[in-house]
Amino acid sequence: MDEPEGSPGEAPKMTVPPSPVRSRIMAAIRSTNTKPEMVVRRLTHGMGYRYRLHGARLPGRPDLVFASRRKAIFVHGCFWHRHRCRRGERTPKTNRAYWRHKLRRNVERDAQNLDSLRQLGWQALVIWECETKDRDALGKRIRSFLDGPD
Ligand code: ZN
Repeated sequence: MDEPEGSPGEAPKMTVPPSPVRSRIMAAIRSTNTKPEMVVRRLTHGMGYRYRLHGARLPGRPDLVFASRRKAIFVHGCFWHRHRCRRGERTPKTNRAYWRHKLRRNVERDAQNLDSLRQLGWQALVIWECETKDRDALGKRIRSFLDGPD
């Protein structure tokens, strides 16, 4: 027979299993703090809409694709896609020329993608990172986009 762990007389080591309550709390904390795309996905799903992720065959690979409606949603980070907001208008202090060029190309590519989608008969909605904070307003926008006229 194997020796039990610990010396005789010592209290048995207690390993505390992760409690369901604790993991639920951790999950809740994590979900309040997610990436903008996750916010949009969860909200849209919660409103009953079903979608596919990252339409690989569509220009710009939209984040959420509603194929039967021919509608797509992009969730854009304000910095990377140059939103006209405080965060989007900032340019890093070092390598300014590099950043300006790179970010401008992102903006141009975004515009081209929207254009190509439109030509393929798709409608697209762009949701900016900073717009995901107000969940009520965001929900209304998503609903009116998806339920709106084709
Ligand atoms: Zn923004």
